[in-house]
Amino acid sequence: MSESLPILIAGGGIGGLTAALALARRGIPVRVFEQAPALGEVGAGVQISSNGNRVLFDLGLEDALTDVAWVPPGKEVRLWNTGESWPLHDVGLESVARYGAPFFMYHRADLHTALVAALRAVAPDAVTLNATASGFDQDGDGVTLKLADGDTITGRALVGADGVHSAVRRTLFGPDDPQFTGIMVWRGLIPADRLPPDRIRQLGTNWMGPGAHVVHYFLRRGEMLNFVGAKERDDWQVESWSTRGTHEECLADFAGWHDDILTMIKLIDVPYKWALMMRPAMAAWSAGRVTLLGDACHPTLPFMAQGACMAIEDGLVLARCVEAFDDIENAFQHYEAARLDRTSRIVEGANDNAKRFHNPALATRDGAIDYLSTQFDPSRISDRYDWVFEYDAAAVEI
Ligand SMILES: Cc1cc2nc3c(=O)[nH]c(=O)nc-3n(C[C@H](O)[C@H](O)[C@H](O)COP(=O)(O)OP(=O)(O)OC[C@H]3O[C@@H](n4cnc5c(N)ncnc54)[C@H](O)[C@@H]3O)c2cc1C
Repeated sequence: MSESLPILIAGGGIGGLTAALALARRGIPVRVFEQAPALGEVGAGVQISSNGNRVLFDLGLEDALTDVAWVPPGKEVRLWNTGESWPLHDVGLESVARYGAPFFMYHRADLHTALVAALRAVAPDAVTLNATASGFDQDGDGVTLKLADGDTITGRALVGADGVHSAVRRTLFGPDDPQFTGIMVWRGLIPADRLPPDRIRQLGTNWMGPGAHVVHYFLRRGEMLNFVGAKERDDWQVESWSTRGTHEECLADFAGWHDDILTMIKLIDVPYKWALMMRPAMAAWSAGRVTLLGDACHPTLPFMAQGACMAIEDGLVLARCVEAFDDIENAFQHYEAARLDRTSRIVEGANDNAKRFHNPALATRDGAIDYLSTQFDPSRISDRYDWVFEYDAAAVEI
């Protein structure tokens, strides 16, 4: 009987909405339970490479997203103090030619809005707000999701897409054990018309220095700049998206850096700061009729810019498995098997990039030039990224 009930998804972030849209477009009933009182995303940017955009375009979002993206002609690496540069990826038309889909930068709210609109077009009542998942029960017939307000909902299965602090993961596998990485991150937005004219290049940029790096790129057709600065520091260990810092503290973390960096920091609207935590990789994500996706099961350091891309890929592969296999427990086993190796490899790649981007060799100019020329040689870049960008979640074996 439960087979006609909806698949329940806890969490209406990028991963949960992608999964819901992919299921709904296959005619599979789905309901999303989001803790927030209103749908939305934080004011920050997100880079979505070809592997993520391929999924989003397959789900019908190409026009809506092309309209709000910033399409960079390329990306570059720059040395923290001198500003010398090395090409990283050609991400405009070159990405389409090489990997079959573009590399775009979005305001997170724009991506979220496009996903919500597409989901509502096929399943108008799928999303319930003010609905905090607190646990669940399951048996051979179905799953009962428990909400914090005492309400319960019965479904065919449950997907925990409730992010890094997932309540579904905690109910399945117990509390997690986050370890501080020794790195904290600054983020902020700058309206583009506030920047000195022609000062900041129209490229996605990754500045690297000893113990720190800065990533910046434009959003929303170029109307604003997204700034992310990572700094090795052990005196700030709060994992939060909404803690405000000060411009002075951020400037102090990048003292001695190139004037472009200091100029950007001074122009940030509100500098937010949070600590980066790492969690041990999970050997399994599914139990019976319950599974996880996105940050709930493979949280990652942001240094490959792949956390959201992985959550998007998860959503499509999960929907394909639910469609292909009648038995939901079997479907979830196939989903997990299809995703485990790839996501583990990307998480490891992000950990490696933490060391790569902050390498002590970057402290002196001669050491830095030798190091960056080797690490960002085109063939090395291809080895590190081609397999990530080529992946096709619609075609991968399930
Ligand atoms: C600084 C930084 C930069 C990044 N840059 C990139 C990038 O450029 N490219 C990229 O691909 N990735 C990037 N990422 C990673 C990316 O943001 C995440 O991997 C992605 O948001 C994960 O999506 P998700 O849907 O799994 O989780 P989330 O985005 O965390 O969404 C979870 C949702 O669940 C809801 N929720 C939580 N608990 C409950 C509950 N108990 N009940 C109901 N709802 C609940 C939340 O409100 C939220 O809406 C970055 C991350 C950081 C920190």
